[in-house]
Amino acid sequence: MNVKENTIEKVKCLIIGSGPAGYTAGIYASRANLNPVIIEGLQPGGQLTTTTEIDNFPGYPKGISGPVMMGELKKQAERFGCDCRWGIVSKSNLEQRPFRLTIDGKTEIEAESVIIATGATAKYLGLESEEKYKGSGVSACATCDGFFYRGKNVAVVGGGDTACEEASYLAGLCKKVYLIVRKDYLRASKAMQERVFNTQNIEVLFEHNTKELSGENGVEACTLIKKAGTSMEQEVKIDIDGFFLAIGHHPNSDVFKKYIDTDEQGYIITQAGTPITNVKGVFACGDVQDPNYRQAITSAASGCQAAIEAERYLAELN
Ligand code: FAD
Repeated sequence: MNVKENTIEKVKCLIIGSGPAGYTAGIYASRANLNPVIIEGLQPGGQLTTTTEIDNFPGYPKGISGPVMMGELKKQAERFGCDCRWGIVSKSNLEQRPFRLTIDGKTEIEAESVIIATGATAKYLGLESEEKYKGSGVSACATCDGFFYRGKNVAVVGGGDTACEEASYLAGLCKKVYLIVRKDYLRASKAMQERVFNTQNIEVLFEHNTKELSGENGVEACTLIKKAGTSMEQEVKIDIDGFFLAIGHHPNSDVFKKYIDTDEQGYIITQAGTPITNVKGVFACGDVQDPNYRQAITSAASGCQAAIEAERYLAELN
């Protein structure tokens, strides 16, 4: 169903985003009679629709494909009456009550409560070969995909805390981990740096830039450009099976930033252990408010919390 045009529709609970957080919020909110509407965004089903195999979501002993799992979550939300719609929230006014949201730049919806579940997008280097091997050797999540590279050689790109953490995590699973760092130092905390330097199977490649990935059946090698002296460059090739990006994420919070407090990276700030934001009646769940875990299960769990808080807020309001 498409969003209705030219009328101001009023809803009790508007959920923005259709990943594990959004659909889980939808299941709980519809079962609590909030008649929620989900605006699904550009990527219905969220990030997991871009992956083939999910092995760590409880309840699927044999694993499940991302698109299938998200299709089932959507059906589960719809079973209780959740209204899932195509559309992107292009503007928000979270100052007035009810809140007013603009969909696709033209249709407005008034919502008594809002649940933001818009996720965070991983940053990539922008290489053509990186795009080619997404899902067959290129990943932006060591916790999600590291398991598939047990006993193999992998590379992690980045020099911050996340990159060091991902490298350390992978070192426990893989034969060898190359940490590719653009600068001649790590930006990570001292403790994280020490952890990396003290791990035998991590080799830090300072002043290296990724040129391209290659391989017949998925990633098999990575060509790097090494800075040698002030103006000299040297090409280096490493044999790897997996290439992990750890250069940051972009939380999809821009459209709410005027009203909702975010940290310096753009993650929505919520009260510890809750989905409560600085605006009463607006809740945030999933990756958009979680710089630490960014997992399907943690997103789903916080979607549940957001719906419960929305229900409590509306009960108090009315
Ligand atoms: P997302 O899944 O990112 O969904 C965000 C939603 O918001 C999307 O539907 C999007 O269309 C919508 N949206 C964004 N902006 C707007 C807007 N302005 N208006 C309306 N809608 C909007 N985690 C695991 O636990 N296990 C795994 O095996 C695993 N594998 C992964 C593999 C890959 C390739 C990737 C990229 C991630 C993987 N993850 C995995 C991480 C997991 O996908 C995320 O943690 C999870 O999807 C976050 O859920 P979310 O609901 O917060 O957001």
